[in-house]
Amino acid sequence: MTAKRILILGAGFGGLAAANKLRKSLSQDHRIIVIDRKKSFMMGLVNLWILAGSRGLEDSQTPIDGLNSRGIEYLNDEAVKIDPDSSRVQTAAHGWITYDYLVIALGSELAPERINGFVGRGFNLYDSSQVPALREKLLAIKRGRVAISIMGLPYKCPPAPYEAAMIINDILTKNGTRGTIDIDMYVPSPLSLPIAGPKVSADVVATIEKYGIKFNPSCKISSVRDGEIEFEGGRKETYDVLVGIPPHRSPDVIKSSGLTTREWISVNRQTMRTDRKNIFAVGDVTEIKVGQSAIPKAGIFAEGQAKAAAGQIINEINNDKSEASFDGQGFCFMEIGGRQAGYVKADFYNPDGPLLSLEPPSEANYEKKHDFERSRIREWLL
Ligand SMILES: Cc1cc2nc3c(=O)[nH]c(=O)nc-3n(C[C@H](O)[C@H](O)[C@H](O)COP(=O)(O)OP(=O)(O)OC[C@H]3O[C@@H](n4cnc5c(N)ncnc54)[C@H](O)[C@@H]3O)c2cc1C
Repeated sequence: MTAKRILILGAGFGGLAAANKLRKSLSQDHRIIVIDRKKSFMMGLVNLWILAGSRGLEDSQTPIDGLNSRGIEYLNDEAVKIDPDSSRVQTAAHGWITYDYLVIALGSELAPERINGFVGRGFNLYDSSQVPALREKLLAIKRGRVAISIMGLPYKCPPAPYEAAMIINDILTKNGTRGTIDIDMYVPSPLSLPIAGPKVSADVVATIEKYGIKFNPSCKISSVRDGEIEFEGGRKETYDVLVGIPPHRSPDVIKSSGLTTREWISVNRQTMRTDRKNIFAVGDVTEIKVGQSAIPKAGIFAEGQAKAAAGQIINEINNDKSEASFDGQGFCFMEIGGRQAGYVKADFYNPDGPLLSLEPPSEANYEKKHDFERSRIREWLL
């Protein structure tokens, strides 16, 4: 058997899960190389703990070079071009790197600039560097309105904006200012979680309304001015603090590579293979249609897809004809403040259609959320 070189683009959820599974199953003569422009890994869900004040940004970073001691080669570099016809990737600092197998796990990018007037006026909840200042602002205001706007679909971790709303409620309550500050959520779709259907969406709305948070459906933001948001159709609302979940887009290197003519990469929903030779794609950069919707952008799905892609590559290298398979199952936590969390559980490949439910909040689930982070960092990087 000739030794293979497996190149993984991105050291987030998908890239780290794929690299570790490959390393555990393949002998050392097969090289596994991971490229990421970042030097450290932090899960997106930590943003909510920074918001809540239970975590600092600096204490939450794990160096990605921990991969090297596991026999996985890490290159801190930028992938600038993918050339599927020659099976190679161009990087900013290391030039062209050839591969036998490529796993694309580059995630999604945030595009706050697509919302006219938002940058400089609102806080981007998904940009961890802005969350400490958002928390300071929430602690400083005495009255007014916090507006939380989901600015486009799809976005990462569909329950996260609702978690943020309830954590903000908790912050303001503890600060003694909740009585004079309204919290309003503005959502582009008629349902709170379109992917989860009407029943779970209604449960989510009932959960936030219990805390006096107002749900405003079908509000597509068009622009932001000082103290005022405007929605498509002309509706205007005031804000004192604006929290945005900006539109998401795929990384530029994907579009320029010719791997998709749309925003996201289409893959085989079991093996995560693309239609290009020996290229797999996993996680937020992909789109897997289920009914009218698509599998949500969440770490748990990126991880499951990465394990399937890695399993398929291992089978092929070992001349094993069996097919690896992503099972379409996962869950997303929904924290409500006060050390309590529920979660949305999903089975997207259920033969009778996607099956989703909302599990009620408990302290045990809150602990599970912390363990979710700890166990993966231990398994992937330490
Ligand atoms: C507030 C918040 C809460 C969340 N909560 C949850 C939760 O409870 N459960 C859950 O499952 N998910 C949650 N998520 C979603 C989860 O973080 C993402 O879905 C997940 O990170 C996607 O994994 P990925 O591997 O596809 O991409 P990512 O983890 O985003 O990794 C992509 C990597 O590619 C790198 N990269 C991109 N372009 C280049 C390039 N050109 N060259 C080199 N490197 C590049 C990036 O630096 C990055 O490290 C949450 C997200 C947020 C923001």
